[in-house]
Amino acid sequence: MLNGQAIIATRPFRSPHHTISDAGLVGGGTVPKPGEVSLAHNGVLFLDELPEFRRNVLEVMRQPLEDGSITLSRASGSINYPANFMLVASTNPCACGFLTDPQKECTCTPLQIQRYRSKVSGPLLDRIDIQVEVPGLRYQELASKDAGDSSNVIRQRVNAARSIQLQRFDKTKLHANAQMGTREIKRHCAVKEDAERLLETAINKLGLSARAYSRVLKVGRTIADLAGAENIEASHIAEAIQYRSLDRQM
Ligand SMILES: [Zn+2]
Repeated sequence: MLNGQAIIATRPFRSPHHTISDAGLVGGGTVPKPGEVSLAHNGVLFLDELPEFRRNVLEVMRQPLEDGSITLSRASGSINYPANFMLVASTNPCACGFLTDPQKECTCTPLQIQRYRSKVSGPLLDRIDIQVEVPGLRYQELASKDAGDSSNVIRQRVNAARSIQLQRFDKTKLHANAQMGTREIKRHCAVKEDAERLLETAINKLGLSARAYSRVLKVGRTIADLAGAENIEASHIAEAIQYRSLDRQM
């Protein structure tokens, strides 16, 4: 605190280049310096073109993604840095970028597509709550006047959902649905029979992992909060399942 003001008053946004080393990303050096995951603490870490990052660099992110902190071990001892960030990442569908394009044809072979996708491991993808496919837009769509909700309206909706979550986790160390563990999921993410059946089908048909399953429940809880609904309905679960699009393709 400086004159009653926090030194960092806005959430950080970090966007390292894909050539970054694992030490640069999670921290390192003889005298361990914090890496991008710690510099993004309580903010956003954006990784553009995720498959372009070296795989070992991406894999070291798994611990901080799970724990919200990173431990760096040295001969002289180990040091723990906070690393509670929101990971946002983008990727093309394939190396040439046109696999899902309705207009242009993809020139990749199936092997090339598989190789491109395998650069991001299943366990890392599992830890990404929301996966959305963004189709290429045609000119008419880009120029459309139908803009949807303004950022201001969306902000109000998000703030309302966040205050529901603050109340939900009152007197606990948590403050958002994403932080729920097994116990909290049991307590706050009960679903009715129709939603349960939907989940069961999704798990059997899409082969979702146990981790993905709990993520669907947590995202479903957030979708219900955004809608101001007390219970998680089947429609909320259906929407949450849609956000596992990469699980379905891998
Ligand atoms: Zn392609």
